[in-house]
Amino acid sequence: MSPRIISINFDKPDAHKLSVYEASGGYGSLQKLFTMPPDEVIEHVKNSGLRGRGGAGFSAGMKWSFVPKDTDKPKYLCVNADEGEPGTFKDRKILQLDPHMMIEGVIICCYAVGIHTAYVYVRGEYVKPARRLQAAIDEAYAKGYLGKNIQGTGFDLDVVIHMGAGAYICGEETGLIESLEGKKGQPRAKPPYPAVIGVFGCPTVVNNVETLSALPFIMNEGWQAYAKLGTEKSTGTMLFSISGSVERPGVYEGEFGVNLWDFIERSTGGVRGGRKLKAVIPGGSSSSILTADEARSTYLDYESIAAAGSMVGSGAIMVLSEEDCVVKALEVVARFYAHESCGQCPQCREGTYFISQIARRIENGEGSMEDIEKILDTCPLLMGVTVCVLADSIAMPAKSYIEKFREEFDQHVKEKHCPYRSAERKSAVL
Ligand code: SF4
Repeated sequence: MSPRIISINFDKPDAHKLSVYEASGGYGSLQKLFTMPPDEVIEHVKNSGLRGRGGAGFSAGMKWSFVPKDTDKPKYLCVNADEGEPGTFKDRKILQLDPHMMIEGVIICCYAVGIHTAYVYVRGEYVKPARRLQAAIDEAYAKGYLGKNIQGTGFDLDVVIHMGAGAYICGEETGLIESLEGKKGQPRAKPPYPAVIGVFGCPTVVNNVETLSALPFIMNEGWQAYAKLGTEKSTGTMLFSISGSVERPGVYEGEFGVNLWDFIERSTGGVRGGRKLKAVIPGGSSSSILTADEARSTYLDYESIAAAGSMVGSGAIMVLSEEDCVVKALEVVARFYAHESCGQCPQCREGTYFISQIARRIENGEGSMEDIEKILDTCPLLMGVTVCVLADSIAMPAKSYIEKFREEFDQHVKEKHCPYRSAERKSAVL
């Protein structure tokens, strides 16, 4: 049984309400927090080993320490709640089921870094989660956890929700900042990083919802308790959104370091309908695919998954059974990235569209062997050359899907149709 830190209140009735959160010890970390010097809080979080849960997996405490201390400018926190990676739906659960845990984390972060205004940038489609969050923020103000002179400590903090407008790229931290400033959500070239020049030209911390939600535990139980969980470099637990061909798709909390397939099988009941496992996409649509054998022999932590050639990313695990088509999966993912490219880098704008068109052709039985090579030739031209990693996000999976499941691509070309598409589905599509 995995320890539950982030999801501990998910099953409690009315867990989103302040009274229920307080009854579970919620906001209890603040007493300790305000007795500690801010620098000590940063060290505490650094020592815990907590890494950002939005995708990059960078040390949270380290990120905070990059914010200059001797600045006259105001500092800001942007909470990244623009969860848009296909297959990712864990932050929605937190916002909807336990928003106060994140708000407590926001207070901890802001106190440590010296921030008095936090913006929560919520994905535009998350209307219900945003309403829940606003209600929780209102309760926190009314009880003196937010606003002026929090709990009589002299510390002030305002939290403001900003709704996105449905662009995936606003989940990239600088795209988010541009959008928050009222501009087009196009990522900025880095450096400078947001810690130095962020929102409104001021030092800014951008942290994911889940990252912040881990902070109350770390403050209450101590960094040692958190660091004891998981592995040496991947500490603690993470929420994983598991979808695809499994019996019970959903959000499950797992401790790092467990076997990847054991965790999926134990949480979801395994592959739907007793079919055979074909593949696992472990870290969202931008991650490389793992074969069934790789998924069975890999451990669920940042280092092990990287060693297997993929990434933990945002924790979106997608499972493919023997009846799922890898070419179709590539076509869907490529279409998504072509649609979501912000268009400022030619390699991304043209390359994502090019790959999506060819993948579609192959899936529809109209592709050639040369088309498969064209995708493989295009992938390296997209990697590491653009302002943000969206172009890499299609190049990496495309390359891995073809290299690991080449026979499926060849079969589509030779048989001139998708062998996984049933007669009924085929006639519906045509
Ligand atoms: Fe925009 Fe794509 Fe360039 Fe990212 S890589 S900045 S999404 S064009």
